Amino acid sequence: MTDTEVPSSVPAAGDRRRFPAPAHLVFFHGPMDCGKSTLALQVDHNQSRQGRHGVLLTQGDRSGGPRISSRVGLSRQAVEIDGGTDLRLLVRERWAAGERVDYLIVDEAQFLAPTQVDQLAELVDESHVDVYAFGLTTDFRARLFPGTQRLMELADTVERVQVQVLCWCGLPGKLNARVVDGVMVREGATVVVADTAPPPQPGTGGRQREVRYQVLCRRHHARGELGPTPAGPGQLAL
Ligand SMILES: [Zn+2]
Repeated sequence: MTDTEVPSSVPAAGDRRRFPAPAHLVFFHGPMDCGKSTLALQVDHNQSRQGRHGVLLTQGDRSGGPRISSRVGLSRQAVEIDGGTDLRLLVRERWAAGERVDYLIVDEAQFLAPTQVDQLAELVDESHVDVYAFGLTTDFRARLFPGTQRLMELADTVERVQVQVLCWCGLPGKLNARVVDGVMVREGATVVVADTAPPPQPGTGGRQREVRYQVLCRRHHARGELGPTPAGPGQLAL
């Protein structure tokens, strides 16, 4: 295709750098214990690994301090905000101090005031800051939190975090790994019930092999990585 055939409304490839990539407001919501904070930390990890700089915001984290912490033990320093914090100012002050802010991670986003959600949308649209917000869907009366409702109204993407088993890394666990004597195996009978291990194989000394199952994300399933704390005999065997 020659240049003259390119529709005039489409900028030539060389012009793309003049137009910053559009930023997004993404909202993940779900019930308690669905792994939101873990997912928040995972998103932060993935972003920072690409060389991007983020600020983590929270209010009333379960650790009681300015951190985002998850029940699986991950934890990261965060900035404690309250309903009166102007999130645009917070970012601009960082920029004024020479700090880069490419994205925001907002945990406990259900506690945001609706006006703060408007501020987040403005940061996305006017300042090209990506925002990843994580919060509870409904309160104890099964009503949307005000912050949650506003996020649902404005976010580019709204995702419900299903109550599910997570891989040790924090990503959704989608695949079952069979672990024999602490090593993931990929071959064998389709069904092996863990509490009735297969008969001893020749060469294993005739002892009973320990068989268990572990849920992993696709990547760690492909790699056969069972996590930093390989389950010992104390782990629940299914
Ligand atoms: Zn994983």
